[in-house]
Amino acid sequence: MKFFNRLNLILHSIRFRLALWFVFILAILLTGFSGMLFYMQIQELQAETLIRLEAKLENIEKAFGADLTRPQFGEAPGFPILPNDDESSFQKEDVLALYTADGELQKLWGPVSREPSLDLSPIHVGEGRGAVIESISIANTDDPVQYVFKIVPLYSGEIFTGYLALGSPLDPGGRLGRLFATLITLIGLTLLVSFAGGFWLADRAMRPVKTIAAKARSISETDLSQRFDLSKKDEIGQLAETFNSMLGRLEAAFARQRQFTADASHELRTPLTIVNLETMRALSAPRSTKEYQRVLEIVQSENELMRQLVNDLLTLARMDAGREPLIRESLDLSDLALDVVERLAPLAARQEIKLETGDLPEVLISGDRQSLTQMLTNLVENAVKYTAQNETGKVRNVLVETGAHPSGTEGWVRVTDTGPGIPGEHLDHLFDRFYRVDESRTQNEETTPAGSGLGLAIVQGVAQLHGGRVEVKSEPGKGSTFEITLPQDSLNVKSSSAQ
Ligand code: ADP
Repeated sequence: MKFFNRLNLILHSIRFRLALWFVFILAILLTGFSGMLFYMQIQELQAETLIRLEAKLENIEKAFGADLTRPQFGEAPGFPILPNDDESSFQKEDVLALYTADGELQKLWGPVSREPSLDLSPIHVGEGRGAVIESISIANTDDPVQYVFKIVPLYSGEIFTGYLALGSPLDPGGRLGRLFATLITLIGLTLLVSFAGGFWLADRAMRPVKTIAAKARSISETDLSQRFDLSKKDEIGQLAETFNSMLGRLEAAFARQRQFTADASHELRTPLTIVNLETMRALSAPRSTKEYQRVLEIVQSENELMRQLVNDLLTLARMDAGREPLIRESLDLSDLALDVVERLAPLAARQEIKLETGDLPEVLISGDRQSLTQMLTNLVENAVKYTAQNETGKVRNVLVETGAHPSGTEGWVRVTDTGPGIPGEHLDHLFDRFYRVDESRTQNEETTPAGSGLGLAIVQGVAQLHGGRVEVKSEPGKGSTFEITLPQDSLNVKSSSAQ
């Protein structure tokens, strides 16, 4: 069973198929080449036989003193055996046939067991014409033998009296047979050696693939740090390199996922601990109504924090899985911005922040209203939340404006605040999940509700899902500007420019 499995594996292997193709092509080439050689050999034999036949005809004519144009010469005694016994005399394997003018066989000499069926049509008859190759049955042999016939017309004076056909074996020395045997042996051997060689070469070439496969099998999800170390620069080397970079990406993705899970648990642990501690403390002894109320307020606020966190996590997970369904419609970015500003105005007012809109020209985009609204809300909420940290007396402004790039292919929405700004070293990580510039500041400030560190990650995710990008410019002490660029709705741009 094991042997058959192995055999099955080999028969289906690339090296076997490669070797087989190699041999198949070689077989076609060799067969064509041998066929040509065979054909040339036949031509050569035919030409040689024809020369002999012509000499024989001449000798017959000379020996019997007969003009071949006289039909009576066939009656000469001893005809057609010639006195000399060289190549140009009538040999015992030769065939000579005399026909009447109507093509009827008159006389036949030679070792034939049956009348040769010669085609006496004019094309085969006459001086200088080619010879006819015929397979004829020879006495005492089973297989027909190939003969070359030279057919000449017979005349008595001017009168056409019949035909004379003189035939000699095409290959009396058995050259064709030997050539055939040699070629078959050589082709067979060559194919065998080529198959073995091709299989060996293909096997050698495929060995690194086996190494890669074995290594790939040994790499588990938990050990993605392994790499293929093939120093080759060929196709297999490139394949290994591709695998390596894929492993690198997988490793990074797994690491991100692990980090994400760890961060998420960590984030949830703090509010859960607070709720636990507060309720335990409240339940440990009878409390006043006011005290219970305070504890319930804490529980509610921590619960709200967790609800927000879980919502954000869900949004990000859906975006990652590509399951956040985008219900695209044609939207005016300025309308969205205005809605968000109006909705958050009371929040800004409570924090004594001037939330206002700048230029809001019509910027048509194709996008999902709900996620784009969440994206803008996150940006404006952040701007309000962090600007509220300014000391009293300092300017507290948040400005929301939109516009289109001169190319007409992109539109933008910008949120500028006069908040504390973000130090340069944080800008690269700002959109990472759970990244916070200053943990203590975010968590502890009275004015700043704790954030999850997921808001900007969601902003970037939504922008990217819409084929856009987000950029930030910020200077500590002066404020920050977040700008989202989105592709404009090409259909609407065209129709509005056509109007
Ligand atoms: P968070 O929920 O903590 O606000 P975000 O992902 O929205 O999380 O923001 C990440 C970090 O970026 C914040 O912790 C904050 O430090 C900084 N940040 C975001 N927006 C602003 C802003 N407008 N001004 C100053 N800092 C900001």
